Amino acid sequence: MQRYTIRRILQQTYLSDQQTHRCLLSAFPSALLGGPRAAAGQRSKSSLPDVRERTLIAVKPDGVQRRLVGQVIQRFEQRGFKLVGLKMLQVSEDLLSQHYCELRTKPFYPRLLHYMTSGPVVAMVWEGHKVVQASRAMVGHTNPAEAQAGTVRGDFSFHVSRNVVHASDSLEGAQREIQLWFKGKELLNWDCCDQSSTCDV
Ligand code: UDP
Ligand code: MG
Repeated sequence: MQRYTIRRILQQTYLSDQQTHRCLLSAFPSALLGGPRAAAGQRSKSSLPDVRERTLIAVKPDGVQRRLVGQVIQRFEQRGFKLVGLKMLQVSEDLLSQHYCELRTKPFYPRLLHYMTSGPVVAMVWEGHKVVQASRAMVGHTNPAEAQAGTVRGDFSFHVSRNVVHASDSLEGAQREIQLWFKGKELLNWDCCDQSSTCDV
């Protein structure tokens, strides 16, 4: 009897510790959880997968003109990722030259600048487990001619110079691009109502 009681107490203590841990985690400023962990792609001490990874997705001017913004957003929502930032902007050449700094010497760079400044862009930050890798797969090959059907580029475009959408290509790239395109206060930390099935995996 005594042993049974002690076991019950231990079980209850363990359970309440777990609950406390969850509450503490959800009450903790998410920016602190999201920033460094997202950047490094690390796991937390409790070995939970890093669900706070973030990436930059941008619907380029051709995608906005063709009214594809909703379809791009829908694909990320239905995949279970969480939207934490969204804005429409006319991108400056200064921002683009930093965003595409690795491409400055490419012959297509002037045309790329012209294309990306030809109209508004819708920029978003999406959050979730392995979102950088998953979103590259969802967006598809840079050259739509080689993109798989079912990807955004494979479904909506046919030429590399009009490939509808941008997606960060690495964790480091995502962190750099998000800082470039968004101010910290433009990104919201919020809990989905279906957090336990989509985010806390
Ligand atoms: N691009 C282009 N011609 C090329 C290669 C790239 O116009 O031969 C454009 C295209 O819009 C592409 C962007 O430059 O999305 C950035 O190129 P990157 O290699 O980074 O491809 P992404 O990461 O967008 O798949
Ligand atoms: Mg790229």
